[in-house]
Amino acid sequence: MDWRAEGLRYFGYSYYLKQIFGFRVQRVSIDAGFTCPNVDGTVATGGCTFCDNRSFSPSRRLPVLGQGQGKRKGDQGWITSQMDDGMARIRKRYKCEHFMAYFQPATNTYAPVEVLRPLYEEAISHPDVVAMAIGTRQDCVPDDVLDLLEEFGARVPLTVEYGLQTIHDKSLEWMNRGDDHSSFVDAMERSMGRGFELCAHIMLGLPGESHQDMMATAREVASCGLDAVKIHNLYAVENTPLADQVRSGEVKLMELDEYVSTLVDFLELLPKSMVVERISGEAPRDYFVGPEWSMDKSAVLRSVKEEFERRDSWQGKRFES
Ligand code: SF4
Repeated sequence: MDWRAEGLRYFGYSYYLKQIFGFRVQRVSIDAGFTCPNVDGTVATGGCTFCDNRSFSPSRRLPVLGQGQGKRKGDQGWITSQMDDGMARIRKRYKCEHFMAYFQPATNTYAPVEVLRPLYEEAISHPDVVAMAIGTRQDCVPDDVLDLLEEFGARVPLTVEYGLQTIHDKSLEWMNRGDDHSSFVDAMERSMGRGFELCAHIMLGLPGESHQDMMATAREVASCGLDAVKIHNLYAVENTPLADQVRSGEVKLMELDEYVSTLVDFLELLPKSMVVERISGEAPRDYFVGPEWSMDKSAVLRSVKEEFERRDSWQGKRFES
């Protein structure tokens, strides 16, 4: 897709979806009630240092999200009612009739295939759903789960999102991730060529990572077979170890100009064909700790555009095949 001919500086997600479907598609989030192996003690406890995993308690989760019409995990129509609520809210804001069912919080492949199948099935059975995305950890995709994803990917456009964050094990250790980079490499090897798209989440500004470290992550992202990437700065939300570390000054978060400059450097190293699904993070205002600037998404997008223009640059300008 020739996004540069449209005057764009990077291959943004809404442009990509419009080209693929010919109409607007919005993501609608589904909380399927999963937990995570570094929360439940399987590989670690406490979860990632930036993740409010106390909200993984099913009794808290749906009331927090205001979704589900009183239905609980396992109830008939639980997924559908969440999507209906989410779609109604999205329709009030956008003119949109088509949706991507997005299994978002926690680890959405962390269950046996017999449990996963009916959840995914219910999501794609909704008449307004035209695509599906599933967020998960790269150490939670055994071969039978990948076979299931392949099966669904043959029926509906599917993106599987891995929480890569960084290629550096010292940072994964800092965030209490409970796995190391080898699990991403392994998951990619077993996931490629199965007919679904692969996306990785990346965080910039992890403590102890140099500019060179982040560019090393960019180079691997560029060459490892991914179709898409979601990038944001490290930010802190309430009820997390990171919030305490930020307040005590132990962790310093990136300033806007540093993030924008690093992000543009990162995007310049990616191939032009890689979809950039996100370049800023978001969290509810009453839950957010900092940095303050990242709450203003439009200002971040504007600054990124200005930085590209100032450099007369674009995604892929420094990509080395
Ligand atoms: S792997 Fe994801 S869901 Fe699990 S604790 Fe970390 S950020 Fe949260």
